[in-house]
This record gives sequence, structure tokens and C-alpha cells, in this order.
Amino acid sequence: MEIDLVKEKIEIEQAFQSMLDSAKYCNKTPENLDRIKKAFDVAFEAHKNVRRKSGEPYIYHPIAVARICTEEIGLGATSIICALLHDTVEDTELNLDDIERMFGKKEAQIIDGLTKISDVVDFNVSIQAENFKKILLTLSEDVRVILIKLADRLHNMRTLGSMSRDKQLKIASETLFLYAPMAHRLGLHGMKTELEDLSLKIQEPEAFEEISSKLEKTQEVRTRFINQFSIPIKKALEENQLKFEVKGRPKSIFSIWNKMNKKQVPFEEVYDLFALRIILDSEPQNEKTDCWRAYSIVTDFYQPNIDRLRDWISVPKANGYESLHTTVMSPTGKWVEVQIRTKRMDEIAEKGFAAHWKYKEGDKESRFDKWITQIRELLENKNADALDLIDDFKLNLYDEEIYVFTPNGDMKNLPSAATALDFAFAVHTELGVNCLGAKVNNKLVPLSYELKSGDQVEILTSANQKPKEDWLNFVKTQKAKTRIKAFLNEEKKELAHDGKSILEKEFNRFKIEYQNISLKELQKYYKVASLTDLYYRIAVKEIDLNHLKAFEIRNGVLLPKRSIRTRFTNYLGQRLTKKDKKESSPNEMLVIGDNMQKLDYQLAHCCNPIPGDEVFGFVTVNEGIKIHKTKCPNAVQLLSNYAYRVIKARWLDEQKIAFLAAIKILGIDDVGIVNTITQIISNELLVNMRSISFDSNDGIFEGMITVFVHDTEHLKNLIKKLEKVNGVTRVERVDK
Ligand code: MN
Repeated sequence: MEIDLVKEKIEIEQAFQSMLDSAKYCNKTPENLDRIKKAFDVAFEAHKNVRRKSGEPYIYHPIAVARICTEEIGLGATSIICALLHDTVEDTELNLDDIERMFGKKEAQIIDGLTKISDVVDFNVSIQAENFKKILLTLSEDVRVILIKLADRLHNMRTLGSMSRDKQLKIASETLFLYAPMAHRLGLHGMKTELEDLSLKIQEPEAFEEISSKLEKTQEVRTRFINQFSIPIKKALEENQLKFEVKGRPKSIFSIWNKMNKKQVPFEEVYDLFALRIILDSEPQNEKTDCWRAYSIVTDFYQPNIDRLRDWISVPKANGYESLHTTVMSPTGKWVEVQIRTKRMDEIAEKGFAAHWKYKEGDKESRFDKWITQIRELLENKNADALDLIDDFKLNLYDEEIYVFTPNGDMKNLPSAATALDFAFAVHTELGVNCLGAKVNNKLVPLSYELKSGDQVEILTSANQKPKEDWLNFVKTQKAKTRIKAFLNEEKKELAHDGKSILEKEFNRFKIEYQNISLKELQKYYKVASLTDLYYRIAVKEIDLNHLKAFEIRNGVLLPKRSIRTRFTNYLGQRLTKKDKKESSPNEMLVIGDNMQKLDYQLAHCCNPIPGDEVFGFVTVNEGIKIHKTKCPNAVQLLSNYAYRVIKARWLDEQKIAFLAAIKILGIDDVGIVNTITQIISNELLVNMRSISFDSNDGIFEGMITVFVHDTEHLKNLIKKLEKVNGVTRVERVDK
């Protein structure tokens, strides 16, 4: 094919000119126009002989990105320049020094940031998340980096057609995972919606086509309904001399698809959730009053659902969104969401802050600043897991935020379902660390109490309080998590110090030299990941150093004895490193079959046998051998109907593995009895509890505790002790 280069150049010039014409937010001083033209010339020259996959000259891409920046995000001259140059450093001969020399320091910085963000290489979400973290890091330098990156991604998504299917899928997956949430977080609603729809189109082409064609077919019905519905409202707004525009809000294909999937309902049940938007043209000082006047008019005609009133004008969302939402009943019995906002608010909702954000030094939108500060706080801990980070980031997005108050009436913004403890950390780290409980609206509540909008929260502290491991199970914010983890690590390090001296003494006693080779052996034996871990476990007595006797000591060096090394599995150790890890089967515990072999098996969950119990193996169809107690309620049936599938099993001796057993305790309710019981279990007998629940009814309590024990002897001991507690009337082992 022959290409008319002269004609092509003219078309490119036209595209550039039309981009400039659309740049209504750009301050078009002669100087700015000069710089923009220069950027265009430089980019044109640099990408001269390169074409995109579609065959068109590469320069169309930077021009398109610049156009999105200015037309759809409302950015100014600097961003247009950087958008035009955004791919030059990565893809052409130009380097950052060239950019700095020709355009300036700021421009070079932004392009440096853009160059650092790599495009997807992988479906792997943790790799994507790492990339995301990098993006956030650049954000704290200059938010324009992300805005331009988003424009870049949007244009790539719009022109994905000529890519390979595999590449399309990768880019779409990353877009949904990272860029759409980011656009949302920055308040770029229009861009977020388009990114989602474009991704869906690639990931689920059939569903996308189906929904979009059905939307087209039902368009007329919707328009008619909305027109009918808005007639009285329009009339009254006019009578009140309000300037306005009324729009039926188009629902995005992605959001319909999402709702269909989430609620498992057909299109027909979703598409007609009607929404109406009233956009008022108000003087700045009348914005709020006008919106509420419009609200009053709407609810004069239609009954509102009080629970659905949202006032994001008095308290805007963290991403800057301002609007008044109400849901009202239409005469035909349909709920209709009505969004009321001014032109300025609508612009922010669609384009994000940038349209109203001035880049003058020291003159930044304060709410935006606040958000950037939050991001910086998240990033403070360099070790924070990138996936945690993104979870937290997203947590703030889709679910509604809650607004709670300090005793002085200061407002704090938290993700929904945040707890009293999250609040404490949000106010001050110190407050979180020493948090004992809270008073919410003057009522005493535990740390894990989930806050609701409007709650007034007073934190109670004690200098003796310290963060606990289980706090991590209920806090919601990354800030609280990070601080708690940091504290626990610090504490662990201190304990490890004690553990080390204990070990040194023991080594002395057994005449073992304090050498790496012996320490490595211990680490292997107890299955701990690091020396700190080893010391820590010794300090908190999770590791029994009596086992040292079982080692061979040659020339002051610890050597494993074969028999022990192969049979002993420090199950306890494993469990404690990974708290929520499911109990795996300790395969060295039983011998099975006539030849007493070591085979793979699982302990049956119906009866949870432990060493000492009489047991048998049962060959299941899909799950290999399961070990049941001979007293298991299922045993009779298994033994009589499937005798051919039953095999012998016997426990090995000298086991120190922990097994799960459940104990039921009945007694008379008494202050402190729960405490006494748990004290006995964990302090006196050093038994680890896995779960505990107590119910109290008319002065009688019933408790269920699951504990880790070594064998039946161990368990019997524990039961005997518990029976002796004042107030306890019965203690028994139960199967579950
Ligand atoms: Mn690009």
C-alpha cells in the first residue's frame, strides 16, 4: 500500500490542532502555545518512522492522550506537553536530560514518573499490585503522572482491536484491577465507567453485546418514563426560578452486568432501575440552598424513602464527590433515584478534581491534599504487602464511607465497617496502641465494635494496654494494621532477646558450642523460618528445650538423631507460624494396614481422633484414608456396611504433635469464671486454645472450647483440672 506522506502530515497537523481547540481548561498564553507546539514537533520527530499495530502513525497516540487529558480530565498546558511526550523517553532516542533541557524540570519529572510505570506483563495480581504500589509512589510526587497514565490507558483500551487476544485479555484484566478503581478514587467517574465497559467488552464479549443490544431496544420505554416522571418537577423548578437541566442517567453496561451477576437476576430485573439527575446552574453562594430547594420540590410530588437520603453536599466523599441523592416512589410503583447537584459538582463528578484544581504552588485543594496524605501514610511502611495496600485502597471506594465524630465534634472519615480500634488509630497511633475500649454515644463498647455514620466515639486508654495479635482479625484500615504489626514485631524482637539468653544457657548446660551449625539444626528441627522466630518461641515457651536431650552432640556440635528427625514433626510450630492454616494431617503419626505402613491419611472431622483413642482407617472414594475413632457415631455403619474398606490403624508412640479436641463445660455463671477457665488452659497447662465460646442463660453457662492437646492423657488431665474449678458442674469431651 502506498502512503501519501504529505497528506498524512496534514492530517496529523489537523488532529493536533483539533486537540488544542478542545483544550478549554488550558491557559492559552502565547508562551504556553509555543511550548505545546514545540512538544508536538519533538514528539512527531521522535516517533517519525513508527506506526501503531493498526498501521496509523504513532504520533496519533500521544495526540489522543493529550486530548483526553485536557478534554476529559480538564488538565492544563504542562500536562498537554507531558502527554505529547509521554512515550518518547521509553520508546525513542530522547532521554530525560533532553526533556529537561528543552522543557524544564517539572516536565522531566512527570515523564520520568510515567516511564517508571510499566504496562502489564502478567495476569498475576500480585505483580499488578506491585505495579500499583509504584504508581501510588509517583502519585505522592505529582498527581498529574497518574492522570496522564490513565489517559494513556484509556486510549489504549479504546484502540485494543489490533492486539492479540492474549494481550487484550491481560490489558483488560489489569485495567479492571487497577486503573478503573484508580479513576474512581480520583473522582473521574466518566473515565471509570468507560474503562469498565471496555474491559468487559473484551473479557465477556457475548454478555456485553447482549446487554448493549437490550439496552438499545428498551431505550424508548425508559425515555418515556423519565419524561413523564419529570414533568411536574420541571414545572415547579421553573416556577421557583431555578436554572436547571434534567437528564435520565444512563446506566453503564458494566454496572448492569455486575448487578445481574451479583444478584443472579436477568437483565429485565435490573435495566429499569431508573435514575434522574437534576443539574442546577447556581451562583456559588446559593449552591447548597438551591440543591435543597430542588430536593423539597421533588419530594413534594413523590414520596421519598428516608433511608436512601444521601447528603454528600454537606459532607463530600473522600474523592471529592458532591451531590444530594434521594430515592422516591413513582406513581407506577417504581423506585427512582434522583441525584441533585450543581453544574460545578457535576463537572467534578465526571472529570474529577483536576478540572478545578490549580497547580499553583502552595495553593492546592485541601481535600485533595488530605487524600494524598492518606496515601503517603499507607506507603510509609515500605514492607506493607502490595496486595494489602490495594485491598485497603479499594475498601475506600465502592462501599460507602462512614463519618464519625470525636468527643470535640471533629469529623473522621472511615471505610464502612471500621471498628472503634480503627478510629483510635485514625486519630493517633498512641491512642490506638493503648486502646482499651470505647464509648460510642456514651455506651461502653469493645474494641471490635463496628462504627456507624454519626457515631460519636470516645476512646478509653490504659498505659498498660498493648496491641494484641488478634486485633489484626478485626481492624479494617491499613493504617491500624500496619501500626499493630509494627508494634508486635518490635515486641517479638525484645522477647527474642530473652529467648536467646535462655538458649545460650541451655547450650552451656549440654556443652554445645554456640555456633551457626547447631542453630541451623535447631531451626530445621523446630521448623521455624528465622533465628528470631526460634528465640521468640523459646521465650514464650512454645519450644520445649528438653528435646535437646534427643540430639546427638559431637564435638560441641548439635547433630540430629535419624530416628527423631524423621518421626518428629513440630506440628505446633507450624501451626503457630501460620495461624489460620488448616490442620494438615501429621502423616508421621499413625501406621496403617496389616503391615503397619506409613500411608497418607486424614483425621475424620466427625470425631477428631487424637493419639490414645482407639482408631481405624476407612478408605473413602475420593479422599483417601480417613481415620475415625472406633467410638465415632459413624463407625457402626461404616464397619458393618463397608467392612472391606476398613483397615487397621495404630498410633505411634512418643508423639508430641498437637491435636484438636473439643470440650464442653457446664456450670453456674459467675463473674470471672471464664477467665479462670482460660487461665488454667493457657497458663497452667500451656495448652493452646483454638476457639472458645460461652453462652449464658439464667445464671447457667455452657462453654465450648477447642484446644490443642497431645494425646488422651493430656486431655484427661485438662478435664480433671477444669472439673475442680469453683462453679463448674460438668466437663466432657465432645466430638465437635
Ligand atoms: Mn502511551
